[in-house]
Parts: sequence; structure tokens; C-alpha cells
Amino acid sequence: MSLYCYICGQPASSAEHAPAKCFFPKDNRSGILTTVGSCSTHNEETSKDDEYVRNIIAMTIGNNPVAHSVFLNNCIKSFNRSPKLLSATTKIRKRVFTQEKGKDELSSTYAFQIDRERVDLVMRKIAYATFFKKYNARWNRELAIGTEFLRNGTMEADEYGMLIQSAKKQLYIPSYEGTNHEIFKFAFLETESRDINEQILIMIFYEGFEVWAFAQPNTIGPKL
Ligand SMILES: [Zn+2]
Repeated sequence: MSLYCYICGQPASSAEHAPAKCFFPKDNRSGILTTVGSCSTHNEETSKDDEYVRNIIAMTIGNNPVAHSVFLNNCIKSFNRSPKLLSATTKIRKRVFTQEKGKDELSSTYAFQIDRERVDLVMRKIAYATFFKKYNARWNRELAIGTEFLRNGTMEADEYGMLIQSAKKQLYIPSYEGTNHEIFKFAFLETESRDINEQILIMIFYEGFEVWAFAQPNTIGPKL
């Protein structure tokens, strides 16, 4: 653990897991000890937020075996423990139709409204901790969070989601780092700048759910 907080730089009083422990199924906890130092302010109890986001991810990519087991073993348990969490997670559920590539018929599925700010907050924390762990320095930028997996009200990827879709066609993606790739892996994409703060961080959960953190030019961070 580092001696100072990965967010504010004050002396650390505890260790923060990144990603949080709840992302790891009980039978697959290697690599869980990736910790950074955190002050008492920035180690506030965010376990409800972590569980919420973990559930969103596992429910979105449930066809991956690890995500599926997380969903069965952890999400369902956390829903049983907290019916409020279930209703908050699946609130405003609506039926939508999707068309798979190469198939004529539409299949129906359910979409649920998510608390995007909550997702972005948890992702920013993981991104800042990942940077801190790798460079032993705080990431001195505000971060914008993007993913193609969470759609807006018209079921299209948002602005950043579309940026990611087009960037992926052209980018050479470096090899991924991480202590347990089945749960979480990451890669930093360098930009033209030599400043390590000017990077894009790609994070992949359960080998499928991809989230990008974009350093915002001319900003000062970390900012949650
Ligand atoms: Zn702090």
C-alpha cells in the first residue's frame, strides 16, 4: 500500500481495493489484493455503489461464464439481501427488440434504466487507482467515462460509445495488464503527448464489458 491517498495525496489511513472485492466471485479471488492507499475521506463506504455497478455489468454480459457465475452467486444474493437494490437496479424496465447480425427475426429483451452517474463514479475510482498503481503517481486529469455497452434512451451508444466504436477500428491495442484477466484487465493507450497524464485507459471486466477513461485536456485531477 502507498503512503498517500490516490485521490488527494494526503497521508493514507487505509487500503482501497481496485476493483472492489465484490467484483470477484468467491471461487476466483486471485489478484484481489491490488490495493492503493486511501485517506479516510476517500475511503468512504461505497460498497453499495460497487455492488450496483457490479450487478449492471454482470447482467449486461451474462453470457460470459465468469460474469454468469458472478450473476448467479453474487447478484442474486445481493438482490435477496436488499430488495431495494433490485428495484433500483431494474427500475423502469421496458421491453425492447434487438436484431442479431445475420438474423431476420427480432428477439425481445428487457432494457432497464441505469444510474449512469453512479456507474461513472465507480469507474473513475477504479481508473484513478489503476493509474496510481502503475505509475505511483496521481492521475492529474479529470476523466470522462465511455462505454459502448450502456445505451441511451433510443438504444444507441452515447457520444463516447460511438467514439470508442470508431476508434477500435483503427487502433492498435497494446497487450493487457492485470493480475486476474478473467475479472479485470487494462491497457493504457498513449497519445501523441509525452505527458503520462494524457492517456486513455481501457478497462475490461469479465473479458467482455469494456470501459474507457479519457483524460480531459487542460484539467486538473484527480476529480471524482
Ligand atoms: Zn484522499
